[in-house]
Amino acid sequence: MTKRKIALFGGTFDPIHLGHIRVASFTLDKLGAELIIIIPAKRSPLKVDSPIAGDDDRINMIKLATSNVSGFEVSDFELKKEPPSYTLNTIKHFQEKYPDSQLYWLIGADNINDLPAWYKIETLIDECFITTMCRPGFDKPDFSKFAELWGSERTKKLQGNIIETPLVDISSTEVRARLTQGMDVSDMLDSDVADYIKKNNLYMA
Ligand code: ATP
Repeated sequence: MTKRKIALFGGTFDPIHLGHIRVASFTLDKLGAELIIIIPAKRSPLKVDSPIAGDDDRINMIKLATSNVSGFEVSDFELKKEPPSYTLNTIKHFQEKYPDSQLYWLIGADNINDLPAWYKIETLIDECFITTMCRPGFDKPDFSKFAELWGSERTKKLQGNIIETPLVDISSTEVRARLTQGMDVSDMLDSDVADYIKKNNLYMA
């Protein structure tokens, strides 16, 4: 029996932008997954000063940005836990929730060099399919440099799960920087998210 494919997309989403939605939608189609679950993080163990917007605001913005896109859900699993949240623990939670599924953990290419610092990374590579999406400004994903560290099987698995996503040059950092300067962000955000930010005075100087 073919297993259900479920993609999990973690990050700070501070705020969620059109880059997230475009590459994740593309990946969902390419994988033939039935669902993508966006999982905002309470606090990244690697980004000490994030996030800026509150948990409820980030969840609300994710809901607004995905309300018209099919196949997207949002989970507050990591927000409800005491920080830091480790991806492996999140994977275990979703393995229990969806026991007959194949889980994919989506990352942008900017994460690759951080992977050796991730909690129990080798177990994580074994437990799910870490799926890498391309990102402008970052090298084309290449895991061969990790072969000595993690072994050739793991490296092959990572390399086989690279998705050639369209390059979307948007980051939350750039969105926040533009907002603090009162600049236009309409080409970077879903319009409902842009309205929400304005209404709630988020990211203003
Ligand atoms: P920041 O600028 O604050 O670091 P970000 O734009 O990278 O934020 P995150 O919420 O940290 O957004 O990203 C969540 C996940 O989405 C990460 O794996 C990141 O690599 C990926 N991602 C974000 N933006 C893009 C993009 N434009 N193209 C591909 N992947 C992306």
